[in-house]
Amino acid sequence: PRTDLQGKVAIVTGASSGIGEAIAEELVKRNAYVALTARREDRLQELEQRLRGIGNAEILTVPGDVSKPEDVQQLVNQTVQRWGKLDIVVANAGFGYRAHIVDGDIQRWKNLLNTNVYGLLLTLKYGVQKLLENGSGHVIVTSSIAGRQVTAGGAVYSGSKFAVNAIAEALRQEVGQQGVRVTTVEPGAVVTEFAEVAGYSSEVIEAIKQMEPLQASDIARVIIQALEQPAHVDIAELTVYPTKQT
Ligand code: NDP
Repeated sequence: PRTDLQGKVAIVTGASSGIGEAIAEELVKRNAYVALTARREDRLQELEQRLRGIGNAEILTVPGDVSKPEDVQQLVNQTVQRWGKLDIVVANAGFGYRAHIVDGDIQRWKNLLNTNVYGLLLTLKYGVQKLLENGSGHVIVTSSIAGRQVTAGGAVYSGSKFAVNAIAEALRQEVGQQGVRVTTVEPGAVVTEFAEVAGYSSEVIEAIKQMEPLQASDIARVIIQALEQPAHVDIAELTVYPTKQT
C-alpha cells in the first residue's frame, strides 16, 4: 500500500525555484500541507499564489536563510504552530560553484559551505527533532552526482555534496529505529537556475542542453515515489541521470 500524503506536514527549503519549487507543487497536489522557505520572499509569495490556484492548498511561507539557526528554528516552530506536527523535511537549499582551488573565491567557498553543509545540518537538527516527537517522518536530502564523483574545478561543490551524503547516511542510522526515514537524492543535470547561480560558462550551459537534461518535475516525481513507500521501506539513495549524461 502506498503512503497517502494527504494531510502530511512538510517543510521545503530552497522552495523559491527549481527542484524545491517542483517538490512543493507535487506535495500540494497531493493535499500535503507545505511550508516554503528560501531567501527571496517575492519569489516565495509568487509561488504561494500559484499553488493556491491548485485548490484547497494549505501553504505557509517563511522567508529565511538556512545558514541562520534562528531562521531555521522560526521555520520549524511556525510550521508546528500552524499545523500541530511535522512529517516531512525536504532539505534542498543549495548552490554550485566551479573553480580550481588556486583560483578559488574564498568568500564564495564560505557561503557555499555555509548553505550546502552547515545549513543542511541546521535544517536536519531542528526539523528532525520534531519528526522524533511525532514518532515517524521522512527526510529528503538533495545531494548530487557531484556527491559521488569529482572532477577538476569541483573541489568545493563536490566536497560539500560528499559531506551531504555522509551527513544523510549518519542521520539515517541515527533515527531509523525511531521510525524516521532518510532519502538522499543525487540528480545529474537538471534545468533550473542552478547553472546561472553557479556562474557556468556558456560552453558548459550548451553542453548541458545537448544531453537533454532533467526537468525539476522529473526529480520531484521520483521524490514523491520515495515518500509514498510504506513506512517500513526506506529508499536510502536515488541517483537520477539524464539518459544521455555520461
Ligand atoms: P535553483 O538555483 O533553481 O534553486 C536553489 C534554491 O536554494 C533556491 O530556492 C534558493 O533560493 C535556495 N537557497 C540557496 N541558498 C539558500 C540559503 N542560504 N538559504 C535558503 N535558501 C537558499 O537550483 P536547483 O533547484 O537546481 O537546486 C536545488 C538543489 O539541487 C541544490 O542543493 C543543488 O545543489 C541540487 N542539485 C542541482 C542540480 C542541477 O543540475 N540543477 C544537480 C544536482 C543537484 P533563494 O536564492 O531565494 O534563497
